[in-house]
Amino acid sequence: MIFKNIVGNEKNKELLKQIIYTNNIAHSYMFVGKESVGKFLFAKEFAKSILCLEKEKPCNKCKSCIEFDAYNNPDFSILNAEGNSIKIDQIRELTKKVYEKPVVSNKKVYIINDSDCMTKEAQNSLLKTLEEPPEYVTIILIASNDNLFLPTIKSRCTKIIFNKLTNSELAEVLKKEYEYVDIDDITFKIADRKCKKSIKIKG
Ligand SMILES: [Zn+2]
Repeated sequence: MIFKNIVGNEKNKELLKQIIYTNNIAHSYMFVGKESVGKFLFAKEFAKSILCLEKEKPCNKCKSCIEFDAYNNPDFSILNAEGNSIKIDQIRELTKKVYEKPVVSNKKVYIINDSDCMTKEAQNSLLKTLEEPPEYVTIILIASNDNLFLPTIKSRCTKIIFNKLTNSELAEVLKKEYEYVDIDDITFKIADRKCKKSIKIKG
């Protein structure tokens, strides 16, 4: 079932599940929240479900899901910053690909990681695509600080806010990631500190 392996932000799970089940998928989303709250994991699972070819999404068995898990799905792509920013050339490259039709699914999904570090020029370049997206495309912008976006970019995206994990959710993450850790032996304080220092929850 979708999101079953992701800890926390339960309301967002329900919201995104609903979007998938009703096939009411927008062209652009902004996943906003502090570091290490699971934004990237959510975005990936959401993308996989959008692209899945079966009814129960993600099925983990169809061509799209298998290729997705192998980082080999031509209808999915992740854009990361180069150095400290995402530059206009990177966005140009991405938007060129956006207009190529999907290959495996009938949709395409792009994740722009740390999208709040897009330069102003890059944002302006992306804006054109957000204004007139091909009907099959969904772009997910992941960001810690949505104040860094042009208002025109913000207004085009459906914003979804991610909250910090609670102490018990953090403990659950520890348990999952480090099975040898005896949760009863560590205080939440230590768990919290460990999470901040050494456990990098993606996104
Ligand atoms: Zn599938």
